[in-house]
Amino acid sequence: MSLTFQIQKTRGLARRATLTLPHGAVETPVFMPVGTQGTVKAIPQHLLEELDVRILLGNTYHLYLRPGHEEIRRMDGLHRFMSWDRAILTDSGGFQVFSLSELRKVTEDGVAFRSHIDGSSHFFSPEHSMDVQIALGSDIGMAFDECTEYPADHARARVSLNRTLGWARRSRDHFEQRKHDRPWGQRSAFGVQRSENEPDLLADRFEGKTPSLFGIVQGGMFADLRRECTERLVEMDFPGYAIGGLSVGEPRELTREMIATTLPLLPADKPRYVMGVGYPDEIAEYARMGVDMMDCVLPTRAARHGLLFTSEGRLNIRNRQYAEDQGPADPACGCMVCRRYSRAYLRHLMAAQEPLAAVLNTVHNLAFYLETMRKVREEIAAETVSQESRMGDQAVGESMKR
Ligand SMILES: [Zn+2]
Repeated sequence: MSLTFQIQKTRGLARRATLTLPHGAVETPVFMPVGTQGTVKAIPQHLLEELDVRILLGNTYHLYLRPGHEEIRRMDGLHRFMSWDRAILTDSGGFQVFSLSELRKVTEDGVAFRSHIDGSSHFFSPEHSMDVQIALGSDIGMAFDECTEYPADHARARVSLNRTLGWARRSRDHFEQRKHDRPWGQRSAFGVQRSENEPDLLADRFEGKTPSLFGIVQGGMFADLRRECTERLVEMDFPGYAIGGLSVGEPRELTREMIATTLPLLPADKPRYVMGVGYPDEIAEYARMGVDMMDCVLPTRAARHGLLFTSEGRLNIRNRQYAEDQGPADPACGCMVCRRYSRAYLRHLMAAQEPLAAVLNTVHNLAFYLETMRKVREEIAAETVSQESRMGDQAVGESMKR
């Protein structure tokens, strides 16, 4: 099997499961760091392994433009290219292309756009997005969808939804035809001599395995459209489903409402992924609602601006008050940064604009997000929820809101 999803334990609506992919097993609910350009910004792959990251995201749009998906295919795929032997999920490129509002033109066939790098002209169709994702060699690809902007009225959201459904079918049909062309596990493809010392390239490990494609639920902020989209995608029988078009500027209550509307309509035995969320208390909340996978640039982007997530709330490490603070970023965190470096030193690195600031801040923030999910997994698996841990979580939630 190319994807298995084994639920070990449920608690309320939450599920504790193991998602097994061609490049290894992922314990869910999981937070997936974003590796936009084949790198989680500022963090080398061996540190991601030390943080126990089991799956990360690659961005199709960025990798297509630079270095190019055919280049990456010739380098045996993204795993080999970036020396990452664990799982990778790629987005469809749609979200980035639609973000280029000045530079794009949308038709039923696909999206014409100009590169943000050099202004060159490009065209993404569902079929092309599938070809790019297969060339990159991700374990999980995403259907090409239209991310409905916010705010959008009902009529506009419906047009967008119909387009997404048509594109989902085309994505699925094309992906099914081409998925065996993935770059890994091709014993003698592309004229490259395989050595016995490169077990990840041998066909045996990937015998019969291919990438899997997830469908994406859209429908703007309208419960009836979300419902309709979910039902029609489920008929197409994807191995997993994402809820997209959220965290695009809407109030948080609406995000939560759309997730709550959609989740019960998705097949209980397949993974559910909410794209592009959120703050630490949000990802914990959504995991407790039954979401299995989430990703967000927040921990990594905030880190580069000196914003640290801690058990005591958010902390801006640039503040003067930390100039002589010898304590760790987060006294409750056991990450490699908190064990070794002081707030005063982290603040100094930011002030001096040292590259190490981005590295250390990002390691801590990722550790905090991963630990947040680990605690939720533990809570789901536990026989009883202790009063103490429940109150602790509440404290985190409260401090994040401030
Ligand atoms: Zn830490």
